[in-house]
Amino acid sequence: MRHLATIQRIKALEPIEGADAILKASVLGWQLVVKKGEFAVGDLCVYCEIDSLMPERPEFEFLQARGMRVRTIRLRGQVSQGICFPLSILPQGTEITEGADVTEMLGIIKYEAPIPASLAGVAKGGFPSFIPKTDETRIQVLQELLDKYQGEPCFITEKLDGSSVTYYLRGGEFGVCSRNLELLETPDNTLWKVARELDIENKLRATGQNLALQGELIGEGVQGNKYRLRGQQVFFFNVFNIDQYKYLDFAEWLRFTKELDLSPVPVLHDQFPLPNSIPELVQLSAGRSALFDVHREGIVIRPLTERQDMIGRVSFKAISPDFLLKFGE
Ligand code: AMP
Ligand code: MN
Repeated sequence: MRHLATIQRIKALEPIEGADAILKASVLGWQLVVKKGEFAVGDLCVYCEIDSLMPERPEFEFLQARGMRVRTIRLRGQVSQGICFPLSILPQGTEITEGADVTEMLGIIKYEAPIPASLAGVAKGGFPSFIPKTDETRIQVLQELLDKYQGEPCFITEKLDGSSVTYYLRGGEFGVCSRNLELLETPDNTLWKVARELDIENKLRATGQNLALQGELIGEGVQGNKYRLRGQQVFFFNVFNIDQYKYLDFAEWLRFTKELDLSPVPVLHDQFPLPNSIPELVQLSAGRSALFDVHREGIVIRPLTERQDMIGRVSFKAISPDFLLKFGE
């Protein structure tokens, strides 16, 4: 599971213009607002990322009005992402180590947008073990990785705000999965309906390989249809070779997706030396969608040649603060 709550050091504290009672704090690659006097530079704290869903506890009571979810907010003009709590919220006797994950210990889980009935479908079983689930790590926790991969040729795609879908063919069997489950074919399930519309099963059979295609479904009935689409569309971001347990590299992925007459997610840059700067990548995440005239959710950054490292697959997301503020996330 993702580390949502960890023990971190306050790297810097700076004043906010026109605000006397609060300060801007830097933790990992995040910036957030803290009360003046609560922390000093160098202090350790419990840092909770956005999308942490907090349990009911007196210390978290103030999040009640926000559905117990840690969101991006703006205070006195300062964007604030995440919350720092004093170490005293940890159970007595907890070993205090910088970087330690305390998510489970505190009973924090990741907020997931509710999946509407038309997408949820009927579970056939858990997500297949022979394909990785789709997920992306946030850039703000990856300074070490950026240090290591500075200058690495990368590509950048637009991150779409929809629902994850995986289509696969293995040993002659075609399967359709949502983010966490494999689904039975039922007449009213949107993921299956789109699979039939796009003729995915036959396209996969024609390749003669055991493959998975992973993409994002957007449109009516999905995440408030921010793109104001009629019907639904899928944009693909992964081709996974099941036998080799390996994703296709950028060039292959793009060529293959187009050969199957499927839409890839929009490619914003195809030769982008990775900068060693979280703020630069966060800045790059903001902008208009390449597909429709709306704020884009953000970007996903990957090396042109697939790599595995400390986070597993080297692939990460930067979400646009403008987008998060606009949609209250
Ligand atoms: P999140 O939606 O914040 O949980 O971020 C991870 C998810 O983004 C993945 O599981 C995908 O479903 C989705 N996603 C949308 N667009 C892309 C993209 N261009 N590349 C990779 N993942 C994407
Ligand atoms: Mn998403």
